[in-house]
Amino acid sequence: MNNLVSWREILDTIVVNGEHREISVEECLELYLNAPQPALSKIAREIRQIHNPGNYATYLVDRNVNYTNICTINCHFCSFYRPPNHRETYTQTNEQISARIRELEEIGGSRVLMQGGVNPDLPLSYYTDLIKYLRENHPLIDLDCFSPIEIEGIAEVTGMKTSEVLLELKKAGLHGLPGGGAEMLVDEVRLDISPRKGSADNWLKVMGEAQNLGLTTSATCVFGFGENPIHRIEHMKRIRDLQDYSLNNNDIGFTSFISWPVQLENNSFGRRNRGKNRRELGAGPIEYLRQVTISRIFMNNIPHIQASWPTMGIDVAQIALESGADDIGSTMMEENVVSASGTTKVLASESELQRAISRCGFIPVKRDSDYNHLETSLCEYEEMLTPVPIKS
Ligand code: SF4
Repeated sequence: MNNLVSWREILDTIVVNGEHREISVEECLELYLNAPQPALSKIAREIRQIHNPGNYATYLVDRNVNYTNICTINCHFCSFYRPPNHRETYTQTNEQISARIRELEEIGGSRVLMQGGVNPDLPLSYYTDLIKYLRENHPLIDLDCFSPIEIEGIAEVTGMKTSEVLLELKKAGLHGLPGGGAEMLVDEVRLDISPRKGSADNWLKVMGEAQNLGLTTSATCVFGFGENPIHRIEHMKRIRDLQDYSLNNNDIGFTSFISWPVQLENNSFGRRNRGKNRRELGAGPIEYLRQVTISRIFMNNIPHIQASWPTMGIDVAQIALESGADDIGSTMMEENVVSASGTTKVLASESELQRAISRCGFIPVKRDSDYNHLETSLCEYEEMLTPVPIKS
């Protein structure tokens, strides 16, 4: 890097003639290490307006379903999974999952996000029959199901390629893949926190294949494992590179990028590091906001940046909306994976998300999984009827 280029000079040239330019890894590192947070938040707000012009912020009414907790991967940060034959294992039936989706339909939801463990006992037909059943019984609900590591697990059980598994699921009615399982797309970090999980290359390969089939995808980043800022930037660079590739290929690419800090309760990762003071873990609000703003600045080819209220709380998610994020995420209704590791809030009502958005000065707009705006009935909060103008 040219050492003469300071964070101030970089920030001054990120937006030129209304265009959000691509910054280099070196420039991003300079910003991550040295730029004051208010300056990052200001430029991130400006960039947000380039990608999502207007005085609104979006939210999604959806439900998480965790169809099985049986898993053989043993991620050190995971408190959700149980190994095969454990007395607390479960795998849900089509009917049980359908009943949960009916509850989602009753509150006007549009998407189910379904993830589970890597269960070696489930054949491909479990997944394809489930998707077909849900498609038939809930035709208006988008089915975003099975993260890349689950797709890899199905491929291993069946002896098929991951692209073939994805094609079968798409034919059954799959709409998209959750962005989970990326954690940190740096193998040095992955090997430390989750040695049996697929490599960074594999996660990206499955996502690229899904995008090539026209499936909706998002990208996530879990941080706070003791990694360095350069690891976080490398993670974002790999996602940005795949996005460039997919968009150049006329594929739809990732809709959004979502970061949250690792949770440290009830898991072996938290236990093995507790009290050792050997490195900083997790992230507080300031570190989280830095990651959100930096991601908005670095991801010049991903339209949406999502705030994470389940890990940081609604208050911090509101500050994230003021710092470059344009979406506050979803109602979730049910969450069993991240919450098992210590989050305190696991569901939010539609009115709660509307109120949170409105109090930041944005108009709340309901969206679907593809970020299409839906008809939005504002709930009855006085302050929501008179949203204050957006700040520049
Ligand atoms: S995070 Fe997913 S893959 Fe890892 S142990 Fe938990 S359920 Fe299994």
